[in-house]
Amino acid sequence: MTLQFELLQGEAQSARLGRLHTPHGSVQTPAFMPVATRGMMRGIFPQQLRPMGVEMALCNSFHLYARPGVEVVQKLGGVHGMLAWDGPILTDSGGFQVFSLGALNQVHKDGVEVEHPIYGGKINWTPKLAFETQAGLAPDVAMLLDICPDKPLDQKICADAVQRTVEWARIQRDLHDQRGGASSGQAQFAIVQGGVFGDLREQCAKQLVEMEFDGYAIGGVSVGEGHEAMMKGVEHSCPYLPLQQARYLMGVGTPQDLVEGVARGIDMFDCVFPARAGRFGTALTDQGRLHLLNAKFKDDARPIDPECDCEGCLSKVPRGALRAGFKSKELLPPILVSLHNLHYIQKLMQRMRTAIADGSFAQLRMNILRSYLPARLAELERNA
Ligand SMILES: [Zn+2]
Repeated sequence: MTLQFELLQGEAQSARLGRLHTPHGSVQTPAFMPVATRGMMRGIFPQQLRPMGVEMALCNSFHLYARPGVEVVQKLGGVHGMLAWDGPILTDSGGFQVFSLGALNQVHKDGVEVEHPIYGGKINWTPKLAFETQAGLAPDVAMLLDICPDKPLDQKICADAVQRTVEWARIQRDLHDQRGGASSGQAQFAIVQGGVFGDLREQCAKQLVEMEFDGYAIGGVSVGEGHEAMMKGVEHSCPYLPLQQARYLMGVGTPQDLVEGVARGIDMFDCVFPARAGRFGTALTDQGRLHLLNAKFKDDARPIDPECDCEGCLSKVPRGALRAGFKSKELLPPILVSLHNLHYIQKLMQRMRTAIADGSFAQLRMNILRSYLPARLAELERNA
C-alpha cells in the first residue's frame, strides 16, 4: 500500500482535520510524533505509546547509520523492529542533526562532510547516502536530505540553501523513482526551506511541488529564530503546498507552537521538547509550565498534574518527592515527568482534533495561549 492523505475538513491556511494512511496503519491529524532519535524513546516503554494516543513515531536515519548501522537495523526488523513499534514511522534524513553539529561550512556540491558522532573520522553524508540509508531502514515515510541553515534571518545563506535543497531533491526523487516510487512501500516527503523570506519559501515550495512528492515539510524553523519568525516561515510556505497533501512542521512541539501551527494549516509535528523538558524537571499543564525543581514545590504533596490521568500522575509520586529525586539524580523523576509531558501533548493534539471538528478550536487556542504565550493572545484579542 502506498501512502495517502485524506483531508477531512479545513483549507490551505486554517486548522484542518485529516487522516494519513500508511502501510502500518492510519494516523489522525493534526498529529504529534514523539522522537526516538537513536531508535529508542528515553525512559518510555514501546507499549506505553498507544495508550497515550501516539499513532506515529519518528527516528533519525543519520544517528542509526552511525550506530548500530543499517545492516544491523535490518537484521532487527528495520526501524519497526528496532523501536518495537508496529505503527507508522517517519525517519528524518539527518539534515537538521548534521547542521546542528556545525557542518554548514562543510557543505559541498554533492553533500556534507560531517564528523562521525561515535567513531570520529569523516562521513560524506550525501543525498544518495541519506536516501539509501532510509531505503534500508524501511520507515513508512523517508525525508529528503536538505540544507537546514541555522541562520533563518540571513537572506544569502537561505537563498543558497534553497538552491541546493532543490538540486538535492531532484537527485533523491530520481532515486525514489528508480526504486519503484510508491510501489517501494515507502513515501518521500520534501522539505521547504527559505528561512523567514516569503519569496524564497514560495520559490522553494513551487519547485518541490513540481516534482510531486508524497508530502511536504516546512524546515529550517525552530532554530532559535523565535516564535513569530517561525510562524512567518509557515505562513510563507503553506499557500504553495497542495491542499490535499500532508504538511509537516519539523522540530516543533511546545504547546503554543503546536496550536499556532495547527491554526495555520499544519498536519504533523515532531519534537524532542516535551520529553527533554520532562527529563529536566519541567512539566507541561494547562496552567503553563511547572518547574518542579523550584523551591516552592519542596513540600507539595500533589502529583505532577492532579487533572491528568497519565501513569506519571496516577503513580501519585508527589511533586516534592520528584524535586528531591531530581536533585539526587534518581532515575524515576525524569521518566515520570517525560511520560506526563508526552501524554499531555498527545492529549492536546486530541483536544485540537475534537475542537476543530466541533468548531471550538479558536477557544482552545486562546486557552493554551493564555498559559503559554500571553503576548500572542493579546494580539489576537486586539485584532478580533
Ligand atoms: Zn500526567
